[in-house]
Amino acid sequence: MQAAGAVVKMLQGKGRGKQVSPPRDCPQFSRDEVLTWLKEEEDWKLSFLWEEADRVRREHVGDEVHLRGLVELSSYCRRDCHYCGIRGSRKIERYRMTEEEVMECVRTAQKLEYGTVVLQSGEDLGLTSDSITNLVRRIKTETPLAVTLSLGERGLDELKQWRAAGADRYLLKHETSDPELFRRIHPDYGSEVSDRIALLKAAKEMGFEVGSGVMVGIPGQTHESLADDIMLFRDLDLEMIGCGPFVPHPDTPLGQSLPSGSPGSGVQSPKSQVPATDRMTTKVVALTRLVCPDANLPSTTALATVNRERGRELGLERGANVWMPNLTPPRYRAMYEIYPGKSKVIDTAEEFHVNLLATLAALGRMPGKGPGGRRTRA
Ligand code: SAM
Repeated sequence: MQAAGAVVKMLQGKGRGKQVSPPRDCPQFSRDEVLTWLKEEEDWKLSFLWEEADRVRREHVGDEVHLRGLVELSSYCRRDCHYCGIRGSRKIERYRMTEEEVMECVRTAQKLEYGTVVLQSGEDLGLTSDSITNLVRRIKTETPLAVTLSLGERGLDELKQWRAAGADRYLLKHETSDPELFRRIHPDYGSEVSDRIALLKAAKEMGFEVGSGVMVGIPGQTHESLADDIMLFRDLDLEMIGCGPFVPHPDTPLGQSLPSGSPGSGVQSPKSQVPATDRMTTKVVALTRLVCPDANLPSTTALATVNRERGRELGLERGANVWMPNLTPPRYRAMYEIYPGKSKVIDTAEEFHVNLLATLAALGRMPGKGPGGRRTRA
C-alpha cells in the first residue's frame, strides 16, 4: 500500500492534472480498476503499470525464470476450435510421438537443467489414459522433473489416474470467460466455458497445481470480458496463468480475414474490440501479476511471435517469470502449427538454450532451479 501511495505521488508529480488510479500490489484490485488500466493508452501512465508489475514480480517470485520444456506430443485433435491450426477438420499431416521419442525430449530437459516438462497435445483420445499414466510414471521414476499435462478436456477419472501416477500440474486455458464468445469460437463443441472452469476446480481438488489463461484479442472480445477473465484468475486461485495474443491462422474460420495483430473481425465495433497486440497482452500480464502476485506467469511464444524482436523480453519485464522452451523434435514442429510463424524457430533445443541464457543474462535474470512450483505464501 505504501507503494500505491508512492505511485499516486509520482503520477501527480507529473503534473498533468489528471488523476489515475494507481497500479499496486493489491489482490483487492477492483474490476473497474483493472478495466481502466486495460483501456489505458498513454505511455507515461502505462510505464507505472510496467514498473509496478516488475516490482511485484521481483518481491513475490524473485528474479528466477522457471524453464518448462514443452513437448508437443501429438497433433491429433478431436475438437474443431475456430482459431486453432491443428483443429480436427483440417486436412493436415498429423503425428503422435512414441514413448521413447518423448523420453528423449525429457532427457534433453534434464540435461539442460529445466525443472519441468510440459506434455501438450491436441485433444487426442489416441493418447490413452494408460499410455499417459505409463509416461508420467516413467518420467517421475527416471528424472527429478515436475510434470505438467496439457491435454485438453479429458475425463476426471483420467485426471485422477494421472495424478496418482505422479503428474504435478494440469493446464487448460479457459480462453475467455464470456460464455457467448466461448460458444462462438467453439461451436458444436459439446462443452461450455463453465465445464472448463469445473474441470480446473476438480483438478485442484485432486491436488494438481492448476493453470488456465486466455487469448488476448480474440475477435469479439471486449475489454470488459477481459477484466472478467483477470478477476476469474484471482477467484480460481490459479498457480499458473498463461496469456498470449490471438494470432490469426489463415486456414481457420477466425483467421480468414484478419492480418496478424489486427484489431479484430468487426464482430464488435473497433473501439470495443481488444487488439491482439504485444502491448495489450503485456497489460494483461502486468495486471494479472498485480491481482495474483505469487502465480507463475509465462512470457508466451505467441507474444514472441507478434513481436519477434522483443516480445519475450517485454513479457518478462512486465510481470512474467516463466519461459517454456520448445523441446519438440524439429521434424514435428511444423506439423504443430497452431498459428503461423510459431514454428519458424527450428534451432535444436541446445542451440536455443544458448540464446535463452543470453537473453536472461541481458535482463539481469537467471534460470530457475528445481521444479519451480508456486511459492507458498508467508
Ligand atoms: N488441446 C489442449 C487445449 O485445448 O487446451 C492443448 C493444446 S492447444 C493447441 C494449446 C493452446 O494453443 C490453446 O489453449 C490456445 O490458447 C493456443 N492457441 C491455439 N490457436 C491459437 C491462435 N490462433 N493464436 C494464439 N493461441 C492459440
